[in-house]
Amino acid sequence: MNEEESNIFCELHGERQTTFVCEHLAESLCTGQPVGFWCADDYDNPYPDAWCSECEAVVQKRHGEWDDVSEAFAGITLLCSDCYNQAKELNFRTHKSP
Ligand SMILES: [Zn+2]
Ligand SMILES: [Zn+2]
Repeated sequence: MNEEESNIFCELHGERQTTFVCEHLAESLCTGQPVGFWCADDYDNPYPDAWCSECEAVVQKRHGEWDDVSEAFAGITLLCSDCYNQAKELNFRTHKSP
């Protein structure tokens, strides 16, 4: 893969790859409260865009589409790839697949 990777400087982890999650997943890192973990079917990407169960419910109401409404609700936030993994671990454990 020759994709240009954009990096982010994380206060905790230093320079890492930039990832995108909903603000609720980002918040769960501070609160420690799991909110569910959903992500894009992007098998080439080790850090596909991710969102919580509430966001998933909004997306379902929008007929499964990401549009202005669902994106506004998600409030997409940047995380470093290490923070992303932490959020994934915290939330994936409690996530029940349908
Ligand atoms: Zn969310
Ligand atoms: Zn980090």
